[in-house]
Amino acid sequence: MKIAFIGLGNMGGGMAANLVKAGHEVNAFDLSSDALDLAKDNGCSTFMAASEAVHSVDAVVSMLPNGAIVKSVYTKDVFGNAPAGTVFLDCSTIDVATAKEVAGAATHAGYEMVDAPVSGGIAAANGGTLTFMVGGTTSAFSRAEPILHAMGKAVIHAGDAGAGQTAKICNNMLLAVHMIGTCEAMKMAEKLGLNPQTFYEISSQSSGYNWSLNAYTPMPGVGVESPADNQYQGGFATALMLKDLRLAMEAADNSGSAVPLSSRAASLYEDYDAAGNGGLDFSSIIKTYR
Ligand code: NAD
Repeated sequence: MKIAFIGLGNMGGGMAANLVKAGHEVNAFDLSSDALDLAKDNGCSTFMAASEAVHSVDAVVSMLPNGAIVKSVYTKDVFGNAPAGTVFLDCSTIDVATAKEVAGAATHAGYEMVDAPVSGGIAAANGGTLTFMVGGTTSAFSRAEPILHAMGKAVIHAGDAGAGQTAKICNNMLLAVHMIGTCEAMKMAEKLGLNPQTFYEISSQSSGYNWSLNAYTPMPGVGVESPADNQYQGGFATALMLKDLRLAMEAADNSGSAVPLSSRAASLYEDYDAAGNGGLDFSSIIKTYR
């Protein structure tokens, strides 16, 4: 297939390279010339405008920073320039309302579109092992699925337009809560005189087990190897967790959902990010517990 790829940053660069490896012809566009140079090295054809990259393609994939940019790129540069019937796959993490709005506008303009945000970071993007949660019609999903499989290990149809973004932000909202809960329990056990490794061994096999404790232990030298053992470098940056929590809080407001624990987690991550820790892995919030 001939696929346009827009947004070749930390995530998109590796994803576009995996489409090339799978045998697709990839037209790449990014505002950054460094990103375009790397895409060229990875076998993509590069373009100086999104409107040019989408000419005569079968599909457009985007991996962009936020909803305002996604809306602007599609409505100004992609609609009208991509051939009628092209399928659009927006893999960015954006707000549910914008995802639905852009998908609706795409349908109105004669295209099919899915929102397909990912779980997994840069290593999974490079390794082609992302998980995609997909919102859109059955027809759009069936066209998007084989393209997504070239970039990931799992592709799940979550529901109609916006359902992929809903799944993503609800998942990450839950992640923030169990990470903070895990940090609090580990530090309190330590303060009460329990060896943290002993607490890990007990709780990870008891009703306290959860992904943050069992698979991503936030304390250095305790439990499984994780970013905590690498000075909290790599992993999932606090700034990205905060971005997802802000989207979750916006969706909670819009839907009238009660999220008292999650909103507390969001404000703890706001404070932690504001203190200059945005680049550290999100599990490093344990350092605020003394
Ligand atoms: P990034 O900032 O590294 O990449 C974004 C790219 O988009 C940049 O290269 C930028 O130049 C380009 N861009 C911005 N505006 C553009 C425009 N108008 N036209 C063309 N290109 C434009 O960000 P990233 O880490 O690759 O994240 C991309 C998306 O993936 C975000 O929505 C993020 O929330 C999501 N995500 C990231 C991770 C992660 O671990 N980095 C994990 C899951 C999801």
